[in-house]
Amino acid sequence: MSIDPPIDFVITVDRTLMTDHHGKEFIGFMTTAPAVGMPEKLWMWICAPKPKVDELGRPIVAPYGLRKVEAALKRAGFRAEIIDPDHLDKHLPRAKALMIGHHDFFAFCAPSNVWWAITKREPVNRKHFIKLMNSEPVRAFKRRGGKIVIGGPAAWQWLHVEDLWDSWGVDTVIDGEAEKVIVDIAQRIIDGEPLPRYVYVAPHEVPSVEEIPTIVGASVNGLVEIMRGCPRGCRFCSVTLRPLRYIPIDMVVSEIEVNKKFGINHALLHSEDVLLYGSYGVVPREEPLLKLHEAIISTRVETIGWAHVSLAAVVAGQRESKIVSKVMDLIKSGTGQKFIGVQTGIETGSPRLAKIIMPGKSAPFPAESWPDIVEEAFAIMADNDIVPAATIILNLPEEKQEDLDATVRLIERLRDYPSLIVPMYFVPMGVLKDKRALLNFSIKPEHVEVMWMCLEHSLKWAPELARKYLAENPFVRFAIRLFLRFVEWKKRSLERRVREIIEEARRGKYTHKPVEV
Ligand code: SF4
Repeated sequence: MSIDPPIDFVITVDRTLMTDHHGKEFIGFMTTAPAVGMPEKLWMWICAPKPKVDELGRPIVAPYGLRKVEAALKRAGFRAEIIDPDHLDKHLPRAKALMIGHHDFFAFCAPSNVWWAITKREPVNRKHFIKLMNSEPVRAFKRRGGKIVIGGPAAWQWLHVEDLWDSWGVDTVIDGEAEKVIVDIAQRIIDGEPLPRYVYVAPHEVPSVEEIPTIVGASVNGLVEIMRGCPRGCRFCSVTLRPLRYIPIDMVVSEIEVNKKFGINHALLHSEDVLLYGSYGVVPREEPLLKLHEAIISTRVETIGWAHVSLAAVVAGQRESKIVSKVMDLIKSGTGQKFIGVQTGIETGSPRLAKIIMPGKSAPFPAESWPDIVEEAFAIMADNDIVPAATIILNLPEEKQEDLDATVRLIERLRDYPSLIVPMYFVPMGVLKDKRALLNFSIKPEHVEVMWMCLEHSLKWAPELARKYLAENPFVRFAIRLFLRFVEWKKRSLERRVREIIEEARRGKYTHKPVEV
């Protein structure tokens, strides 16, 4: 079945993102790795099950970024729809453009690049994106002269694969917030005008709050944005280049109502730092934060989630006004949920390196106190039923052995706090872009110990967290338990040869060289 008049702009992404991850966004992490210890089909079923679609192949829930592009196009009067990748053949024969947005098209970002370097196998996100681009509906669409427009947070990756850019016939890549520029591109396509090959949306060109449209269909796991940008200025991060904007509470509530209309009764608040909602600087403000949560609770959602918090904001807010406890009490009494999982960044345990690479991360506290701030934040979160999944970044510019030693000591200090710690490998983004380092890096012998510590820490807590987090989904919980047992077994067999692994790393065995497509 297809629509008449036809959809002009078909928006999609491959299966690793066109999914609800069984309602648990943390499971989405698995899409950044190759299938390990089980067949790929089972791996994909666990981390990226097919979503429900309507008779036209429109998914009931879709990634939030695609929803924003859809909303911008519809608001401008275009015929645009998000279509599941398995249903493209219904619409591409009559569409004018195919629009694809992604977080990590080619697995160049962390943690995909780490899993790839260690396992020597392509992560499933990359495999499935390439499969989509090589699929017959997309090939036929291109042969017919259809336009392909690419965007999303990983748009910069296309600058490193110009051969694929040309061979797949991608017309335009949009790098940056797309809500404004996509309308102009769509009009050019309708008018048959030439398209720009690469559009960079500079910080001064991003949409204002008024120009950001409200989503018109449900987002994965009820994700709604509460702010854009981040004031901390870490040198390795591109988010910080964008101006800070707070989404008004009315708009947040409207988007939650849209989700509820489609049966999604959860609110996952997206921000680089949820606790800084409505703040003037880097210390949380009680009034806007409580008002936001009260308004969300009044919509009667079943659960509230947070995407990210910064550890310094946890400490600053709790010391100043016990804000973490107040918000968590509000959430727990308002929804009945018992805990919240959240992503956060430790990045390094070294005050020396923190001072060089992320001097604002510990603000309002000095970088010298970074390890103490991290531990205090973990303690506050543990006391308030917040479970962090924290990242460590290895291979940061100017990293020395003493910095890695400091990171090891910090991970040891965090041993007794329920959490996951995931090692990332530095990707030169933001002001530190570097093509050579991006495409070709080695896991150095001195990084093996930190990675090992992260693995030990996460394996200590993962079974208990899986039990809590996946309580209502016995099949997925069972599969994840089997997977964790496999990882535990693998770890025991590797334990005997850690020295050997360090020696292998010294000889360059874990050098990462992305393969040709
Ligand atoms: S705190 Fe996080 S989002 Fe903000 S600049 Fe640093 S890494 Fe980026």
